[in-house]
Amino acid sequence: MPGVASDFWEAVGNTPLIRLRRASERTGCEILGKAEFMNPGGSVKDRAALGILGDAVKRGQLTPFQPGTVVEGTAGNTGIGIALAANARGWKSVIVVPETQSREKLAFLRMIGADLRLVKPAPLSSPDHYVNYSRRLAEEMGAVWANQFGNLANAAAHEATTGPEIWEQTGGKVDAFTCACGTGGTLHGVAAALKSRKPGVRIVLADPYGSGMASWVKTGEVKAEGNSITEGIGQASKVPGNLEGAPIDDALRVSDEEALEQVYSLLIDEGLSVGGSAGINVAAAIRVAEGLGPGHTVVTILCDGGARYQSKLFNPEFLREKGLPTPPWMG
Ligand code: PMP
Repeated sequence: MPGVASDFWEAVGNTPLIRLRRASERTGCEILGKAEFMNPGGSVKDRAALGILGDAVKRGQLTPFQPGTVVEGTAGNTGIGIALAANARGWKSVIVVPETQSREKLAFLRMIGADLRLVKPAPLSSPDHYVNYSRRLAEEMGAVWANQFGNLANAAAHEATTGPEIWEQTGGKVDAFTCACGTGGTLHGVAAALKSRKPGVRIVLADPYGSGMASWVKTGEVKAEGNSITEGIGQASKVPGNLEGAPIDDALRVSDEEALEQVYSLLIDEGLSVGGSAGINVAAAIRVAEGLGPGHTVVTILCDGGARYQSKLFNPEFLREKGLPTPPWMG
């Protein structure tokens, strides 16, 4: 039947592009958010999960409904996408996550049947960093290592789906695209898709404090300072394989204060519940729009939903401890 998605895999993508009223009114531009929190796994990373697992099937590493195991190191959302997509194909998933990630994401991973392995936060140079740990575990188990940072099937999924969807939904009337990078898959894939259709489109990387990607774009040197409570974005020391070679025009840094202002306003003024990385993205889109001037269209990504961070972004006690603003209606 034409209107039916056959399963989880077919239900991923084709998310709405939502006009962000306050950001648009403030800038005189159309600021549009791609509602990736509406994917069945609740985040933009469902697309990467499908891209990576679909590629593993093509390579013969996994066969639908035959025994198979996927291992991944993740801030949480990729793990959720992989675990659900694996459930839908009869595979097992082993998900390695730093214990500092929100307890909602960890509880959700357990709930959906992932074999969850918590690790202590460690620098990328350490064998105990969650990415290195997951690679080693996959080798030991003889399982498929998803490798979202280095596996280019990640960016390719966004080049094939997210980017073309934005192009279609705006009727090609897109002047700029901005988003933060975890693996860089979203930014690279969308940027490549948009630039191939409209070379003049402006691509801007948004970076939280504690990440060195903005300085890398601007100076070629990865230099991080400060820190952020956002999850899933920013790289302190290394440019991920999926970000390398992305056609990026500029970069800017966004503070947690600025991001939280957007997270709270999107929720209470517009009914859109989003996480911290979406706040960074919308704040960046506003600044890009201000730079372009009225009459332009700027697209960004609403990566995941706010309920994933209730214990952090909507927890006045936690926020006060960090010296950050609290949701005005929560006291
Ligand atoms: N926002 C959130 C909440 C995420 O979990 C991630 C992925 N880790 C991103 C943004 C960044 O996406 P990408 O890996 O495609 O750069």
